[in-house]
Amino acid sequence: MAIARETVLEIDLRALEHNYHYLRSKLKSETKFLAVVKAFAYGSDAEKIAQKMQGLGVDYFGVAYAKEGVALRNAGITKPILVLHPQPVNFDTLIERCLEPSIYSPNILKQFLNIAKKHNQKDYPIHLKFNTGLNRLGFWENDVDFIIAKLKESNAVKVASVFSHLAASEDLSEEEFTRKQINTFQKIVTEVDKKLGYSPFKHLLNTSGIINYAQGQYDMVRSGIGLYGYGNDTIIDSQLKPIATLKTIISQIHKIEPGESVGYNRAYSSTDYRTTATLPIGHADGIGRQYGNGKAYFLVHGKKAPIIGNVCMDMTMIDITGIDCKEGDEVLVFGPELSAHQFAGSANTISYELLTGISQRVRRELVD
Ligand SMILES: *Cc1c(COP(=O)(O)O)cnc(C)c1O
Repeated sequence: MAIARETVLEIDLRALEHNYHYLRSKLKSETKFLAVVKAFAYGSDAEKIAQKMQGLGVDYFGVAYAKEGVALRNAGITKPILVLHPQPVNFDTLIERCLEPSIYSPNILKQFLNIAKKHNQKDYPIHLKFNTGLNRLGFWENDVDFIIAKLKESNAVKVASVFSHLAASEDLSEEEFTRKQINTFQKIVTEVDKKLGYSPFKHLLNTSGIINYAQGQYDMVRSGIGLYGYGNDTIIDSQLKPIATLKTIISQIHKIEPGESVGYNRAYSSTDYRTTATLPIGHADGIGRQYGNGKAYFLVHGKKAPIIGNVCMDMTMIDITGIDCKEGDEVLVFGPELSAHQFAGSANTISYELLTGISQRVRRELVD
Protein backbone atom coordinates (compact mmCIF):
# COMPACT_ATOMS: atom_id res chain seq x y z
CA MET A 1 0.00 0.00 0.00
CA ALA A 2 1.18 3.48 -0.84
CA ILE A 3 2.26 5.98 1.80
CA ALA A 4 -0.56 8.48 2.39
CA ARG A 5 0.00 12.06 1.21
CA GLU A 6 -3.41 13.29 2.33
CA THR A 7 -6.38 11.76 4.16
CA VAL A 8 -7.36 8.61 2.33
CA LEU A 9 -9.54 5.57 2.91
CA GLU A 10 -7.85 2.54 1.41
CA ILE A 11 -10.15 -0.28 0.37
CA ASP A 12 -8.50 -3.67 0.07
CA LEU A 13 -10.47 -5.84 -2.34
CA ARG A 14 -8.25 -8.85 -1.55
CA ALA A 15 -9.40 -8.63 2.07
CA LEU A 16 -13.01 -8.46 0.82
CA GLU A 17 -12.46 -11.64 -1.17
CA HIS A 18 -10.94 -13.34 1.88
CA ASN A 19 -13.90 -12.35 4.07
CA TYR A 20 -16.38 -13.56 1.47
CA HIS A 21 -14.69 -16.96 1.29
CA TYR A 22 -14.57 -17.16 5.08
CA LEU A 23 -18.29 -16.44 5.43
CA ARG A 24 -19.13 -18.83 2.58
CA SER A 25 -17.19 -21.55 4.40
CA LYS A 26 -19.79 -21.33 7.19
CA LEU A 27 -22.64 -22.05 4.75
CA LYS A 28 -24.07 -25.06 3.02
CA SER A 29 -22.91 -25.03 -0.59
CA GLU A 30 -26.41 -24.41 -1.93
CA THR A 31 -27.14 -21.42 0.34
CA LYS A 32 -27.39 -18.17 -1.60
CA PHE A 33 -25.43 -15.11 -0.51
CA LEU A 34 -26.77 -11.56 -0.48
CA ALA A 35 -24.05 -8.93 -0.12
CA VAL A 36 -25.35 -5.93 1.83
CA VAL A 37 -23.83 -2.84 0.19
CA LYS A 38 -26.07 -0.12 1.66
CA ALA A 39 -24.61 3.18 2.87
CA PHE A 40 -21.77 3.16 0.31
CA ALA A 41 -20.94 -0.44 1.25
CA TYR A 42 -20.54 0.51 4.89
CA GLY A 43 -18.65 3.67 4.04
CA SER A 44 -16.27 2.14 1.52
CA ASP A 45 -17.31 2.26 -2.17
CA ALA A 46 -20.55 0.48 -3.06
CA GLU A 47 -19.96 0.37 -6.79
CA LYS A 48 -16.45 -1.08 -6.61
CA ILE A 49 -17.42 -3.51 -3.86
CA ALA A 50 -20.49 -4.69 -5.77
CA GLN A 51 -18.51 -5.13 -9.00
CA LYS A 52 -15.95 -7.22 -7.13
CA MET A 53 -18.66 -9.27 -5.40
CA GLN A 54 -20.52 -9.80 -8.66
CA GLY A 55 -17.27 -11.17 -10.08
CA LEU A 56 -16.96 -13.50 -7.09
CA GLY A 57 -20.39 -14.95 -7.90
CA VAL A 58 -22.56 -13.48 -5.18
CA ASP A 59 -26.30 -14.14 -5.77
CA TYR A 60 -28.01 -10.96 -4.59
CA PHE A 61 -27.27 -7.44 -3.47
CA GLY A 62 -29.02 -5.55 -0.69
CA VAL A 63 -29.34 -1.78 -0.29
CA ALA A 64 -31.52 0.30 2.00
CA TYR A 65 -32.96 2.82 -0.48
CA ALA A 66 -33.91 3.03 -4.16
CA LYS A 67 -31.24 5.58 -4.94
CA GLU A 68 -28.52 3.18 -3.80
CA GLY A 69 -29.91 0.51 -6.12
CA VAL A 70 -29.96 2.93 -9.05
CA ALA A 71 -26.26 3.71 -8.45
CA LEU A 72 -25.48 -0.03 -8.63
CA ARG A 73 -27.43 -0.45 -11.86
CA ASN A 74 -25.55 2.53 -13.34
CA ALA A 75 -22.30 0.80 -12.33
CA GLY A 76 -23.17 -2.30 -14.35
CA ILE A 77 -24.59 -4.51 -11.61
CA THR A 78 -26.95 -7.00 -13.26
CA LYS A 79 -27.64 -9.35 -10.32
CA PRO A 80 -30.93 -8.95 -8.43
CA ILE A 81 -30.97 -6.07 -5.96
CA LEU A 82 -33.20 -6.15 -2.88
CA VAL A 83 -34.17 -2.71 -1.59
CA LEU A 84 -34.68 -3.15 2.15
CA HIS A 85 -36.54 0.02 3.03
CA PRO A 86 -38.15 1.53 -0.07
CA GLN A 87 -40.49 4.51 0.01
CA PRO A 88 -43.60 4.87 -2.21
CA VAL A 89 -42.24 8.01 -3.88
CA ASN A 90 -39.60 5.78 -5.52
CA PHE A 91 -41.79 2.85 -6.60
CA ASP A 92 -41.77 3.90 -10.28
CA THR A 93 -37.98 4.05 -10.20
CA LEU A 94 -37.78 0.60 -8.61
CA ILE A 95 -39.69 -0.93 -11.49
CA GLU A 96 -37.87 1.07 -14.17
CA ARG A 97 -34.49 -0.09 -12.83
CA CYS A 98 -35.45 -3.66 -11.95
CA LEU A 99 -35.01 -3.20 -8.22
CA GLU A 100 -36.88 -5.58 -5.93
CA PRO A 101 -38.71 -4.06 -2.97
CA SER A 102 -38.98 -5.36 0.55
CA ILE A 103 -42.71 -5.15 1.21
CA TYR A 104 -43.08 -4.55 4.91
CA SER A 105 -46.61 -3.29 5.67
CA PRO A 106 -50.20 -3.47 4.37
CA ASN A 107 -49.89 0.15 3.23
CA ILE A 108 -46.69 -0.54 1.27
CA LEU A 109 -48.17 -3.68 -0.28
CA LYS A 110 -51.25 -1.80 -1.52
CA GLN A 111 -49.21 1.07 -2.93
CA PHE A 112 -46.66 -1.16 -4.66
CA LEU A 113 -49.39 -3.31 -6.20
CA ASN A 114 -50.99 -0.21 -7.72
CA ILE A 115 -47.71 0.92 -9.26
CA ALA A 116 -46.90 -2.56 -10.57
CA LYS A 117 -50.32 -2.69 -12.24
CA LYS A 118 -49.83 0.80 -13.69
CA HIS A 119 -46.57 -0.46 -15.27
CA ASN A 120 -48.39 -3.55 -16.62
CA GLN A 121 -46.12 -5.86 -14.71
CA LYS A 122 -46.63 -9.58 -14.41
CA ASP A 123 -44.97 -11.53 -11.57
CA TYR A 124 -42.78 -8.58 -10.53
CA PRO A 125 -40.50 -9.95 -7.76
CA ILE A 126 -41.22 -8.69 -4.26
CA HIS A 127 -39.89 -9.78 -0.86
CA LEU A 128 -42.17 -10.06 2.16
CA LYS A 129 -40.55 -8.80 5.33
CA PHE A 130 -41.95 -10.08 8.63
CA ASN A 131 -41.29 -8.69 12.07
CA THR A 132 -40.29 -11.47 14.47
CA GLY A 133 -39.08 -9.41 17.42
CA LEU A 134 -36.90 -6.52 16.27
CA ASN A 135 -40.07 -4.41 16.13
CA ARG A 136 -38.62 -2.11 13.51
CA LEU A 137 -40.04 -2.96 10.08
CA GLY A 138 -42.23 -5.79 8.88
CA PHE A 139 -45.63 -7.41 8.71
CA TRP A 140 -46.96 -9.12 11.79
CA GLU A 141 -47.81 -12.78 11.78
CA ASN A 142 -51.53 -11.98 11.72
CA ASP A 143 -51.16 -9.99 8.46
CA VAL A 144 -50.70 -13.21 6.45
CA ASP A 145 -54.37 -13.57 5.45
CA PHE A 146 -54.57 -9.94 4.32
CA ILE A 147 -51.36 -10.35 2.26
CA ILE A 148 -52.55 -13.53 0.57
CA ALA A 149 -55.96 -12.04 -0.26
CA LYS A 150 -54.33 -8.93 -1.73
CA LEU A 151 -51.85 -10.98 -3.80
CA LYS A 152 -54.61 -13.16 -5.21
CA GLU A 153 -56.35 -10.09 -6.66
CA SER A 154 -53.84 -9.78 -9.51
CA ASN A 155 -50.73 -11.35 -11.04
CA ALA A 156 -48.79 -8.07 -11.14
CA VAL A 157 -46.36 -9.25 -8.47
CA LYS A 158 -44.96 -12.55 -7.28
CA VAL A 159 -43.34 -13.27 -3.92
CA ALA A 160 -39.67 -14.06 -4.60
CA SER A 161 -38.76 -14.44 -0.94
CA VAL A 162 -39.94 -14.18 2.65
CA PHE A 163 -37.55 -12.82 5.25
CA SER A 164 -37.02 -11.42 8.72
CA HIS A 165 -34.17 -9.86 10.66
CA LEU A 166 -32.65 -10.88 14.00
CA ALA A 167 -32.47 -8.37 16.84
CA ALA A 168 -29.48 -9.69 18.79
CA SER A 169 -27.65 -12.32 16.73
CA GLU A 170 -24.27 -11.11 18.02
CA ASP A 171 -25.27 -11.33 21.68
CA LEU A 172 -25.22 -14.89 23.03
CA SER A 173 -26.84 -13.80 26.30
CA GLU A 174 -29.94 -13.28 24.13
CA GLU A 175 -29.81 -16.77 22.66
CA GLU A 176 -33.24 -17.71 23.98
CA PHE A 177 -34.80 -14.63 22.39
CA THR A 178 -33.08 -15.34 19.06
CA ARG A 179 -34.26 -18.97 19.11
CA LYS A 180 -37.78 -17.67 19.62
CA GLN A 181 -37.36 -15.38 16.61
CA ILE A 182 -36.21 -18.33 14.50
CA ASN A 183 -39.22 -20.39 15.65
CA THR A 184 -41.62 -17.55 14.92
CA PHE A 185 -40.11 -17.15 11.45
CA GLN A 186 -40.45 -20.89 10.81
CA LYS A 187 -44.13 -20.72 11.77
CA ILE A 188 -44.73 -17.75 9.46
CA VAL A 189 -42.99 -19.23 6.41
CA THR A 190 -44.84 -22.52 6.83
CA GLU A 191 -48.15 -20.66 6.86
CA VAL A 192 -47.20 -18.42 3.91
CA ASP A 193 -46.10 -21.39 1.78
CA LYS A 194 -49.31 -23.24 2.50
CA LYS A 195 -51.63 -20.32 1.78
CA LEU A 196 -49.68 -18.92 -1.16
CA GLY A 197 -49.61 -22.23 -3.03
CA TYR A 198 -45.94 -21.87 -4.03
CA SER A 199 -42.70 -21.70 -2.08
CA PRO A 200 -40.66 -18.46 -2.19
CA PHE A 201 -37.09 -18.69 -0.88
CA LYS A 202 -36.43 -17.70 2.75
CA HIS A 203 -33.72 -15.75 4.57
CA LEU A 204 -33.10 -14.60 8.10
CA LEU A 205 -29.40 -14.36 9.00
CA ASN A 206 -27.07 -11.36 9.01
CA THR A 207 -23.31 -11.71 9.64
CA SER A 208 -23.55 -12.66 13.33
CA GLY A 209 -26.47 -14.94 12.51
CA ILE A 210 -24.23 -16.82 10.06
CA ILE A 211 -21.65 -17.24 12.81
CA ASN A 212 -23.97 -18.14 15.69
CA TYR A 213 -27.19 -19.65 14.30
CA ALA A 214 -26.57 -22.22 11.57
CA GLN A 215 -30.08 -23.57 12.19
CA GLY A 216 -31.52 -20.31 10.79
CA GLN A 217 -29.70 -20.50 7.47
CA TYR A 218 -32.65 -21.26 5.15
CA ASP A 219 -32.00 -20.52 1.45
CA MET A 220 -29.98 -17.32 1.62
CA VAL A 221 -28.03 -15.17 4.10
CA ARG A 222 -27.54 -11.39 4.12
CA SER A 223 -24.10 -10.23 5.16
CA GLY A 224 -22.71 -6.73 5.48
CA ILE A 225 -20.25 -6.11 8.31
CA GLY A 226 -18.53 -9.50 7.92
CA LEU A 227 -17.64 -8.74 4.31
CA TYR A 228 -16.00 -5.54 5.50
CA GLY A 229 -13.92 -7.42 8.05
CA TYR A 230 -15.74 -7.25 11.38
CA GLY A 231 -17.63 -10.05 13.10
CA ASN A 232 -18.87 -8.55 16.39
CA ASP A 233 -16.70 -11.16 18.14
CA THR A 234 -12.99 -11.32 18.98
CA ILE A 235 -12.45 -14.83 17.65
CA ILE A 236 -14.31 -14.16 14.39
CA ASP A 237 -12.52 -10.82 14.02
CA SER A 238 -9.21 -12.69 14.10
CA GLN A 239 -10.37 -14.70 11.05
CA LEU A 240 -11.58 -11.68 9.07
CA LYS A 241 -9.59 -8.87 7.49
CA PRO A 242 -10.77 -5.25 7.71
CA ILE A 243 -11.04 -3.97 4.15
CA ALA A 244 -10.85 -0.27 5.06
CA THR A 245 -7.82 1.58 6.34
CA LEU A 246 -8.20 5.27 7.16
CA LYS A 247 -4.94 7.18 6.98
CA THR A 248 -3.97 10.79 7.23
CA ILE A 249 -0.74 12.77 7.56
CA ILE A 250 0.88 15.32 9.82
CA SER A 251 0.28 18.85 8.47
CA GLN A 252 2.14 20.72 11.19
CA ILE A 253 3.97 20.08 14.45
CA HIS A 254 3.80 22.45 17.44
CA LYS A 255 5.72 22.66 20.68
CA ILE A 256 3.41 23.55 23.56
CA GLU A 257 4.57 25.09 26.83
CA PRO A 258 3.04 24.65 30.30
CA GLY A 259 -0.13 26.72 30.66
CA GLU A 260 -0.91 26.82 26.92
CA SER A 261 -4.11 25.39 25.49
CA VAL A 262 -4.87 23.54 22.27
CA GLY A 263 -7.90 23.97 20.02
CA TYR A 264 -11.40 25.40 20.29
CA ASN A 265 -12.79 26.31 23.68
CA ARG A 266 -9.28 25.73 25.02
CA ALA A 267 -10.52 22.22 25.84
CA TYR A 268 -6.97 20.94 26.30
CA SER A 269 -4.72 22.77 28.68
CA SER A 270 -1.10 21.74 29.10
CA THR A 271 0.69 21.35 32.41
CA ASP A 272 4.06 20.61 30.85
CA TYR A 273 6.01 20.65 27.58
CA ARG A 274 4.17 18.71 24.86
CA THR A 275 4.57 18.15 21.14
CA THR A 276 1.37 18.18 19.09
CA ALA A 277 0.56 17.35 15.49
CA THR A 278 -2.28 18.86 13.50
CA LEU A 279 -3.93 16.51 11.00
CA PRO A 280 -6.15 17.20 7.96
CA ILE A 281 -9.12 15.19 9.21
CA GLY A 282 -12.05 16.30 11.34
CA HIS A 283 -15.67 15.73 12.24
CA ALA A 284 -16.71 16.64 8.69
CA ASP A 285 -14.74 13.57 7.58
CA GLY A 286 -16.47 11.31 10.07
CA ILE A 287 -14.23 11.48 13.13
CA GLY A 288 -16.81 12.91 15.51
CA ARG A 289 -16.25 15.11 18.53
CA GLN A 290 -16.99 12.15 20.79
CA TYR A 291 -13.48 10.86 20.00
CA GLY A 292 -11.82 14.05 21.26
CA ASN A 293 -10.26 14.93 24.57
CA GLY A 294 -8.26 11.75 24.99
CA LYS A 295 -11.00 9.23 24.24
CA ALA A 296 -9.40 7.81 21.09
CA TYR A 297 -5.87 7.63 19.77
CA PHE A 298 -4.32 7.35 16.31
CA LEU A 299 -1.07 5.50 15.51
CA VAL A 300 2.03 7.40 14.42
CA HIS A 301 4.73 4.94 13.31
CA GLY A 302 2.95 2.32 15.42
CA LYS A 303 2.88 4.48 18.56
CA LYS A 304 -0.28 5.68 20.28
CA ALA A 305 -1.00 9.39 19.86
CA PRO A 306 -4.18 10.44 21.73
CA ILE A 307 -6.48 13.11 20.35
CA ILE A 308 -6.14 16.24 22.41
CA GLY A 309 -8.81 18.90 22.77
CA ASN A 310 -11.92 19.08 20.66
CA VAL A 311 -12.01 17.55 17.18
CA CYS A 312 -12.51 20.44 14.70
CA MET A 313 -14.49 20.32 11.45
CA ASP A 314 -11.44 19.86 9.22
CA MET A 315 -8.63 19.15 11.67
CA THR A 316 -7.67 17.07 14.66
CA MET A 317 -4.76 17.60 17.02
CA ILE A 318 -2.90 14.67 18.56
CA ASP A 319 -0.22 14.40 21.22
CA ILE A 320 3.00 13.10 19.66
CA THR A 321 5.27 13.86 22.61
CA GLY A 322 8.17 11.41 22.51
CA ILE A 323 7.28 9.97 19.10
CA ASP A 324 9.97 10.27 16.44
CA CYS A 325 8.09 11.81 13.47
CA LYS A 326 8.00 14.83 11.19
CA GLU A 327 5.60 16.91 9.13
CA GLY A 328 4.30 14.91 6.16
CA ASP A 329 4.52 11.56 7.99
CA GLU A 330 1.67 9.12 7.80
CA VAL A 331 -0.86 8.66 10.66
CA LEU A 332 -3.14 5.65 10.98
CA VAL A 333 -6.70 6.29 12.18
CA PHE A 334 -8.01 2.73 11.88
CA GLY A 335 -7.31 -0.37 9.84
CA PRO A 336 -6.00 -3.89 10.37
CA GLU A 337 -3.47 -2.66 13.00
CA LEU A 338 -6.02 -0.60 14.97
CA SER A 339 -9.48 -1.98 14.37
CA ALA A 340 -12.49 0.22 13.67
CA HIS A 341 -14.28 -1.88 16.29
CA GLN A 342 -11.75 -0.87 18.93
CA PHE A 343 -11.55 2.75 17.78
CA ALA A 344 -15.35 3.08 17.81
CA GLY A 345 -15.52 1.39 21.20
CA SER A 346 -13.29 4.09 22.70
CA ALA A 347 -16.26 6.48 22.34
CA ASN A 348 -18.98 3.92 23.12
CA THR A 349 -20.11 3.37 19.57
CA ILE A 350 -19.79 0.51 17.07
CA SER A 351 -17.78 -0.20 13.94
CA TYR A 352 -20.94 0.13 11.82
CA GLU A 353 -21.37 3.79 12.81
CA LEU A 354 -17.70 4.71 12.45
CA LEU A 355 -17.34 3.06 9.03
CA THR A 356 -20.56 4.39 7.51
CA GLY A 357 -19.80 7.85 8.87
CA ILE A 358 -16.58 8.37 6.88
CA SER A 359 -17.77 11.19 4.69
CA GLN A 360 -17.64 11.41 0.92
CA ARG A 361 -15.00 14.14 1.25
CA VAL A 362 -12.41 11.46 2.03
CA ARG A 363 -10.80 10.08 -1.10
CA ARG A 364 -11.24 6.32 -1.59
CA GLU A 365 -8.31 4.37 -2.99
CA LEU A 366 -8.70 0.79 -4.14
CA VAL A 367 -6.09 -1.90 -3.62
CA ASP A 368 -6.51 -5.13 -5.59
C1 LIG B 1 -28.04 -4.04 7.34
C2 LIG B 1 -28.80 -5.31 7.28
C3 LIG B 1 -28.14 -6.56 7.19
C4 LIG B 1 -26.65 -6.72 7.32
O1 LIG B 1 -26.29 -6.88 8.68
P1 LIG B 1 -24.77 -7.15 9.12
O2 LIG B 1 -24.83 -7.23 10.60
O3 LIG B 1 -23.99 -5.97 8.65
O4 LIG B 1 -24.33 -8.41 8.46
C5 LIG B 1 -28.93 -7.69 6.98
N1 LIG B 1 -30.28 -7.59 6.91
C6 LIG B 1 -30.94 -6.42 7.05
C7 LIG B 1 -32.42 -6.40 6.99
C8 LIG B 1 -30.22 -5.24 7.24
O5 LIG B 1 -30.88 -4.08 7.39
